[in-house]
Amino acid sequence: MIYTITLNPTIDRLLHLDGELTKEKNNRLESIAYDIGGKGHHGSFAMSKLGVENQALGFCGTTNKGQLDKILEQKNINHDFVEIYGKPTRESYVILEKGISGSILITEKGYDVSSYAKSLLFDKIEEKVGAEDTVLIAGSMPPGFEIKDLEKLMMLLNKIGCFIACDLSGEALKTAVKFGVDFIKPNRFEIEELSKQGQTLLETVKELTKTIDYVIVSQGGAGSLCGHENEFYQIKPPAVVVKNDTGAGDCFVGSFLASLTQQKTFVDALTFATACSASKVQYNDSSSFSVKDAENLQKKVVVEKID
Ligand code: ATP
Ligand code: MG
Ligand code: MG
Repeated sequence: MIYTITLNPTIDRLLHLDGELTKEKNNRLESIAYDIGGKGHHGSFAMSKLGVENQALGFCGTTNKGQLDKILEQKNINHDFVEIYGKPTRESYVILEKGISGSILITEKGYDVSSYAKSLLFDKIEEKVGAEDTVLIAGSMPPGFEIKDLEKLMMLLNKIGCFIACDLSGEALKTAVKFGVDFIKPNRFEIEELSKQGQTLLETVKELTKTIDYVIVSQGGAGSLCGHENEFYQIKPPAVVVKNDTGAGDCFVGSFLASLTQQKTFVDALTFATACSASKVQYNDSSSFSVKDAENLQKKVVVEKID
């Protein structure tokens, strides 16, 4: 079983404008759509779409829970959250202008997580997760959830003995490295936090694989530099027409972990995850992708072994 943990979920409110966003003008909306934000949820979505059993864990507010449940149901995301009473799950406003690519993102900070809520989450994890399971911790931490809480969470998962995957950044990513988790996938900006002065990217990846089983540095449209068990690869995706690359990494992580649990080889899991995320960037929202498209794209993924 794979569990994903999203500590700081959000409901994305996609505001489709009729034209360009302009000051001192009434900017009319053409339509509003809702999507689930939160990196773990996106990972769960990819796994479910690939038919791999998983459950999304984490926190959620109660006052807009109906709305959140509706989106999760539509996206086929099995979940079991610790509820934060009397507070809403935060919203992110994604402004999409007609005929203009890219988006403007405005996010709420979200509720404060209490010690009680944190202990409920840890209890739930202890009760559910076993040594044979995989746990993905992804995304930012909400107010009230500190690095020392993340350390506590990692200590608990270490004690359980499960496979620990992290899609984190900044101090949280450094904490994951310190704990020697089993998988990390920083992007090209996030890895900068981990590289030492004068070190090439390959040298950084090589050093990290001494303590972390799977190290993948994603490089957007340029692909990824990947290391596992003293084998290193540069993976290059096929060229595609990009609509929105937000969530490409989440799709990569979800489909890669799904492939690992299906006993695929490292290279197979890499090329398939690369193909799934190349399909994803061709969609407007931050999680959609086509499995059929991915299966075709996978044949065009280039694998270069590095000595
Ligand atoms: P996220 O928004 O989910 O956090 P990220 O910044 O962590 O994304 P990226 O490095 O942007 O992750 O992308 C992850 C993977 O998706 C890349 O390694 C690549 O395989 C694929 N990908 C991203 N952008 C493109 C693109 N323009 N064309 C083809 N594939 C892409
Ligand atoms: Mg990116
Ligand atoms: Mg990312």
